[in-house]
Amino acid sequence: MISHSDLLRRNGVAVTAQRLAVLRAVAGRPHATADDIAEDVRTEIGTISRQAVYNVLGVLTEKLLIRRIQPAGSAARYENRTGDNHHHLVCRDCGKTVDIDCTVGKAPCLTPADHSGFLIDEAEVVYWGICPDCLQKDKPAESLS
Ligand SMILES: [Zn+2]
Ligand SMILES: [Zn+2]
Ligand SMILES: [Zn+2]
Repeated sequence: MISHSDLLRRNGVAVTAQRLAVLRAVAGRPHATADDIAEDVRTEIGTISRQAVYNVLGVLTEKLLIRRIQPAGSAARYENRTGDNHHHLVCRDCGKTVDIDCTVGKAPCLTPADHSGFLIDEAEVVYWGICPDCLQKDKPAESLS
């Protein structure tokens, strides 16, 4: 695996302490929100404005070094698992997000019956459900069956 500094340089992004810290935070906490990332970055390098974190996330996303996902009703989340077409499973209660490998692997992995003349390059697949922790919490109050 190449270092984060090399990764930035190879993609034409100047190496700065802020960019390195954001990359590390995203790698260390997949599917974190910008606020989560800002918190981790502050622990590591001290003061950094929210806007600065957003700016760095924007640059890294644009260069495809990180991937931005935004499930409906959730804040944007970031991860450094890029270059594959994996999907996400999101908890309706707490927003916990986990990776689901795509069974096809390449986008678009779903073929519509009628493409209406579009050249389709992606099918956005999000699985929704209740995570084990929330299932456990809800148990005494109500039964799901
Ligand atoms: Zn949950
Ligand atoms: Zn993911
Ligand atoms: Zn798929």
